[in-house]
Amino acid sequence: MDLVYVSTRNADEKATASQAILKGLAGEGGLFVPTSIPTLDIDMDELSKMSYQETAYEVMKLFLTDFTEEELKYCINNAYDGKFDTEQIAPLVKADGAYYLELFHGATIAFKDMALSILPYLLTTSAKKNHVKNEIVILTATSGDTGKAALSGFADVPGTKIIVFYPKNGVSPIQEKQMVTQKGANTFVVGINGNFDQAQTGVKQMFSDASLAKAMDEAGYQFSSANSINIGRLVPQIVYYVYAYAKMYENGEIGKGEKMNVVVPTGNFGNILAAYYAKKMGVPIAKLICASNENKVLFDFFRTGVYDKNREFILTSSPSMDILISSNLERLIYRIAGDDADKNTEFMDKLLREGRYEVTQEMREQLADFYGNFTDENGTAEVIKALYESTGYVIDTHTAVAAGVYQKYKDETGDTDTKTVIASTASPFKFTRSVMNAIDDSYERMSDFELVDELSKLANVEIPQAIEEIRSAPVIHDTVCEVEEMEKVVRQFLMSGKER
Ligand SMILES: *Cc1c(COP(=O)(O)O)cnc(C)c1O
Repeated sequence: MDLVYVSTRNADEKATASQAILKGLAGEGGLFVPTSIPTLDIDMDELSKMSYQETAYEVMKLFLTDFTEEELKYCINNAYDGKFDTEQIAPLVKADGAYYLELFHGATIAFKDMALSILPYLLTTSAKKNHVKNEIVILTATSGDTGKAALSGFADVPGTKIIVFYPKNGVSPIQEKQMVTQKGANTFVVGINGNFDQAQTGVKQMFSDASLAKAMDEAGYQFSSANSINIGRLVPQIVYYVYAYAKMYENGEIGKGEKMNVVVPTGNFGNILAAYYAKKMGVPIAKLICASNENKVLFDFFRTGVYDKNREFILTSSPSMDILISSNLERLIYRIAGDDADKNTEFMDKLLREGRYEVTQEMREQLADFYGNFTDENGTAEVIKALYESTGYVIDTHTAVAAGVYQKYKDETGDTDTKTVIASTASPFKFTRSVMNAIDDSYERMSDFELVDELSKLANVEIPQAIEEIRSAPVIHDTVCEVEEMEKVVRQFLMSGKER
């Protein structure tokens, strides 16, 4: 039977893959999940010889069952092309006994490119398949990296518009510059006077506002999401865990069937959920190690079974993980609640009303595949400095949070033998100031772009195109609004009839 998607909040709401991609979010705030996880039925010797694109096809065809081979290959081949600065797309780098899976070789030098370079193709293909006449409006909240990656993916894509909300004071200077200089007549970037959770909640509210949807429809628009709540983002992220395993095998780092650990710097829980799905597909993954920064709501959850967002929101040097409501965790909660939409809805209602919920002992037992920990700000800087000094390899702050947690994992469990892949989610050039300050505090007086040049020399790595591009680019987007004004801003942008 073909795999379909069902809402985590309503067992009667089902969708094909293309319908789920178009909608982004299910009704009542639910998320679409596959009704079953398909098995990766392909020999490792064969898989290990495949290119990234071929691997992507083998994985994605199992999830996107209403796409034809031609459609899917068209999407894959247009996404994973020269936009990436390496043919391997996601290379593995061994340093200090761990394997860094570099997911930042795309157009905007963060791992969001892995999914957002293909999402526009998946979405426009889905629109065609479902005879959608409206223009698709991508509505996105970003903690910094999704925004730029989505803008870059959707800029000037016919039949689409994209609106990005980011916390005005919650992203790095380079991240902000990347977004506000975005070209494309269909792009719109708005800073909000609020944090990421408020941006995300505001966007979610617009998605579930029936009267807004009606007004949009009358004007010839419909919303979709580029956030990781869209399964069109989740599925492409499974690919690189399969690919990483196959490359570890091909390189002789692991034997056939030998398990490896995966460490993922986590915010919205999308990336690590993809690793969980890869494990469920049969990829020999031992522990899924969930790394948090000082916003350690997930660490507390894995330790206690209580998810509690009632706490101070901390701005850290890894802003893309400054999140207290990890949206994709709902997909895991639904799973460990026995794929029970009613039970899941109870937890999510509690989260909305009280800001916390506690899962049952029975549910906790199903979390044994996960290990959670966190790295604080000092620890993050120390990891960057120590790795640079011992190996010359420079990692970004998010990846450093993961590396710090991997060290804690080894200390706590004694598991130092299992080969371990660390998801390296951003180029250090995206968080230059924090990275350089970690290595030496004498850099403090330099400008952001001077630091870029300095980092290039120090790490012996060429300055990525994505950074060169924004050095002298003019600011195009300067709208700032209050959290309460998000909907008004959306209406104005879409209904004013003016393109910039
Ligand atoms: C988005 C992001 C994360 C967090 O990923 P989630 O899928 O939201 O858990 C980590 N690091 C970087 C650099 C990111 O951009």
